[in-house]
Amino acid sequence: MEQLKMQTRQQLFQALFPEAPAFRWRQVMLTLFDSDRTGWEGVTTLPKDMREKLQSNVSWMSLREGIVLESRKGDTKKAVLECADGARIETVLMRNARGHWSVCVSSQVGCAMGCTFCATGSMGFTRNLTMDEIIDQFRFWHYHLAEKTRHSKTKSESEPSSLISNVVFMGMGEPLSNYESVREAIRTMLAYTSLGSTRITVSTVGLLPALRKLLRDPLWPSIRLAVSLHSADSDIRKRLMPSSFDTFLDDLAEWTKEYFSLNDERRRHLTFEYILLSGVNDSSEDAKKLIEFSRRVGKVKVNLIPYNKTSSGHEGSREESAKKFLDQLKRVGITATIRKAMGDDIAAACGQLLQMQSKK
Ligand code: SAH
Ligand code: SF4
Repeated sequence: MEQLKMQTRQQLFQALFPEAPAFRWRQVMLTLFDSDRTGWEGVTTLPKDMREKLQSNVSWMSLREGIVLESRKGDTKKAVLECADGARIETVLMRNARGHWSVCVSSQVGCAMGCTFCATGSMGFTRNLTMDEIIDQFRFWHYHLAEKTRHSKTKSESEPSSLISNVVFMGMGEPLSNYESVREAIRTMLAYTSLGSTRITVSTVGLLPALRKLLRDPLWPSIRLAVSLHSADSDIRKRLMPSSFDTFLDDLAEWTKEYFSLNDERRRHLTFEYILLSGVNDSSEDAKKLIEFSRRVGKVKVNLIPYNKTSSGHEGSREESAKKFLDQLKRVGITATIRKAMGDDIAAACGQLLQMQSKK
């Protein structure tokens, strides 16, 4: 399906004010990330006629708030947001270990990759998100936290928005299938927020053409990458992830070596993600294959992910199996962690909430 080209705010701005000096756009962007502002009318750094034109032609927020759910423990919030064309996406806010917040953003409406364990995968693909729709998920939570802070009666209730310390592209969609918008959204966040490049992680199914492209892309920021491996056995991976193919693991190993050879800084910024599925990829034989694969590629971190239930029919590994798997990796010196399950009471796996709603 040919995707309708949606104009970004910057393109609209340039069309409206072709003569405007560059600093004006910078002022606009600074304003968009300023949680004290709620619309163009309050942007007094801009001339009045510019404000009025922006007000009638450029959306202040490209996403409309739908439902916001909060987990019982209060450590996770999940929002369904509606785009201008009615498409709905999900974004999640999670409190992390240091008491700061991580924002999980979506990069597409749905996903074409069809991974069998993923709720988004079963929805199919609708369209890529624009870079505005990606940064506005961050802005949504930025404003949300600032609002909470303004209304909190006691200091302990306050949730300072400046404490969004991480952004992960682990929501709906395959970020590297929407390469340019994702890259520009990241560059924008790096330019206009206090986030540093090691605080942003892009998770990918392992889209090799895009992974190869970013190695040579001078505009690709040196953020963290997480590759969803989920099995180091080609046949199992192909069954779980239809986008996989016979030579995927060999190709990924080659790519990883090249990625590591680029510079030392990047070496620390690659993780393999591995969902533990009972009886599918969690045996000691599976761990052995993962160890062999890790040895082939160099020193890579492994993040084991507890499975969030979807209608896929899979079962997550039992706690003892997960622990055994983790220990097997650690014994041979692999840096491995099990991701903390958060917000399971509010459908934390991306796509789960939308899937539940559409069944109603
Ligand atoms: N498309 C990208 C990023 C979005 S998915 C990717 O696949 O990496 C983010 C992470 O959530 C991926 O590692 C994905 O495999 C994982 N995931 C998908 N469905 C899940 C589920 N039901 N339970 C736990 N993790 C899941
Ligand atoms: Fe798409 Fe990632 Fe879900 Fe696979 S796991 S279907 S790539 S969102």
